[in-house]
Amino acid sequence: GNAKSPRDFRRILSLARPERSRLTAAIGLLVISSGISMSVPYAIGKIIDIIYNMDQLKQSDQESQKQVIRERLKTVCAGLTGIFLLGGLCNFGRVYLMRTAGQNITARLRGQLFSSIVKQDTAFFDKNRTGELLNRLSADTQLVSLTVTQQVSDGLRSGMMTLAGAGMMFYMSPQLAMVGLAVVPPVSFFAIVMGRQVRAASREVQDSLAASTEMAEEKLSNIRTVRAFAMEGREIDNYRVTMDNVLQKAYSEAMINAKFYGTTGLSGNMIILAVLYYGGNLVTTDAITVGQLAAFVLYSAYVGIGLSGVSTFYAEMMKGLGASSRLWELIDRRSDIPVTGGVIPSKPLAGRIKFEDVTFSYPTRPDVTVMKELSLDIPANSVVAVVGGSGSGKSTLGSLLLRLYDPDQGRVTIDGEDIRTLDPAHVRKYIGTVSQEPVLFSSSIRDNIVYGAEDPASVSQEELEHAAKEANAHGFISRFPEGYDTLVGERGVMLSGGQKQRVAIARAILKNPGILLLDEATSALDAQSEHEVKEALERIMQGRSVIT
Ligand code: ADP
Ligand code: MG
Repeated sequence: GNAKSPRDFRRILSLARPERSRLTAAIGLLVISSGISMSVPYAIGKIIDIIYNMDQLKQSDQESQKQVIRERLKTVCAGLTGIFLLGGLCNFGRVYLMRTAGQNITARLRGQLFSSIVKQDTAFFDKNRTGELLNRLSADTQLVSLTVTQQVSDGLRSGMMTLAGAGMMFYMSPQLAMVGLAVVPPVSFFAIVMGRQVRAASREVQDSLAASTEMAEEKLSNIRTVRAFAMEGREIDNYRVTMDNVLQKAYSEAMINAKFYGTTGLSGNMIILAVLYYGGNLVTTDAITVGQLAAFVLYSAYVGIGLSGVSTFYAEMMKGLGASSRLWELIDRRSDIPVTGGVIPSKPLAGRIKFEDVTFSYPTRPDVTVMKELSLDIPANSVVAVVGGSGSGKSTLGSLLLRLYDPDQGRVTIDGEDIRTLDPAHVRKYIGTVSQEPVLFSSSIRDNIVYGAEDPASVSQEELEHAAKEANAHGFISRFPEGYDTLVGERGVMLSGGQKQRVAIARAILKNPGILLLDEATSALDAQSEHEVKEALERIMQGRSVIT
């Protein structure tokens, strides 16, 4: 909450550090262009007075004097044109620098966030939904980077407009300035109160929107299941319900915004009206000129616009702070099982696997013990089959060996080394897995197979085909018109179960692992392809440990 805000705020600002030069330049340009904008009312007032004087001269008919005035008008306007051109250039530079700095910050933030998410332990992904993580990655990062660039820049400009406008008002007529600015304190108070409400309301809109996007993401990525159960209608209704929820939240946000802008707009106009009324009286007493009054009215309009900008800035800042604290939580989260780090044994692993009194329950379901004091000794270069009913914990055994989870008690060792002391990346590189439901990436067959290699770019066509032949996959792959370039669709939906499994086996072969973990690797196959795959497996079982 609020206690963390100053720290979150400093941390948001630190995002801007690498963009320091761009942002400083942008702010410099902002000061110049704002300065130019601030001179506009003064210049307009001067021009009005020149024209007004010309009007007065009509009766006295002094042509030569009119000529002088015309000359002055020309010079003033020509000078202003130059100044405006400069202002335009400054705005150009400012917008470009600000936007690019913002994009850089977003990109960097996304990189940081993605790398932190990817490194989280498996239990984290059991708990968190992909849709929500994607939301953080796309929407929240953008919101936060806008806060340090656009919002700060707009806020600064509004702040300068307000201060300079008020300054000019006092400079031109302190008396009138007091009248015009009398409404400022109550309006600011109102704006701060409303700003809080805006923040809360927009948070609710964001949250309900995220929930609805998550739901859509899940249903779309499993459209086959939805279709097979003919649930399109119900999913459409469900989505509508979540959208109604979003709308409801958005309506109350709209209401708060309407109140806010209605009131601030009204008070802005009241400032101007008050200035016109008192100022008109001052003109009649010759205390100020018509041009000065015009300039004064414009300055008070600036103050009004500036103030509303400052309050928008405040609301947006709060929104950005909210989004940022969610991001920091994710970025700072340390995974219980690191991705790398730990001992890398000096000699190559022989591959003796031992489970010693392992007790384990999944972190998301701590009350259900999947394994109780399980011991298992698998000598190097042996083939071991683990047999058990569905749900008895066979796949879990594989997960523990890959160190996707740590046991609650006992230990898993390779060559006598507790795998918790070894570098997880090293262990995982040493183990090849073909899982029960192999999942492919939505690229080509080639890309999926070479994913197993240490350096995918260096895999030659021969090596690729060799691995595919070993896996009995070369035949069906070459029968595709595009061969190895055939796209497999999202998660591999464009291949049959058996084809997917053989591609996964080829991927495991290319890795040339010391331990091969086959988790019901032939479960998705018919008798013929099971025979082919078994043949392939027997071939690659040579010289390594196999757990099936
Ligand atoms: P199988 O022997 O069929 O491969 P598993 O090892 O997949 O069985 O599952 C063992 C038990 O653990 C099952 O009761 C299952 O419901 C549970 N389980 C599997 N994966 C998870 C998970 N990620 N989170 C929580 N429980 C799980
Ligand atoms: Mg299983």
